[in-house]
Amino acid sequence: MDCKQAEKLIPDFIKGEMETRAAKQFLEHVKKCPSCKEELSIQFLVTVGMERLEDGDAFNLNDELSARLQMAESHIKIRQRLQRGLYYFEVIAMLIVILVMTTVVFI
Ligand SMILES: [Zn+2]
Repeated sequence: MDCKQAEKLIPDFIKGEMETRAAKQFLEHVKKCPSCKEELSIQFLVTVGMERLEDGDAFNLNDELSARLQMAESHIKIRQRLQRGLYYFEVIAMLIVILVMTTVVFI
């Protein structure tokens, strides 16, 4: 992912509307790229900061951004683990089917 693509995804990330694969690539890019990280911080501060000002609760936004980055990362890990789990489940299900079929043939 290049900077242009990452920048386009920033608003989606802030809104929490991003599919897993895009989020993973986005986070990988932001980690390596200081200018996109900066852009993300600014947009996050502006977007969330405005909401918070209305609520009268505009402190610790930087902490909140890093918390959100960590949360997104752990969500990705959980989803990947789930997908891997499903894959194993399918393999096991297929093995069982094959076993049952061969057993039937031998009987
Ligand atoms: Zn970048």
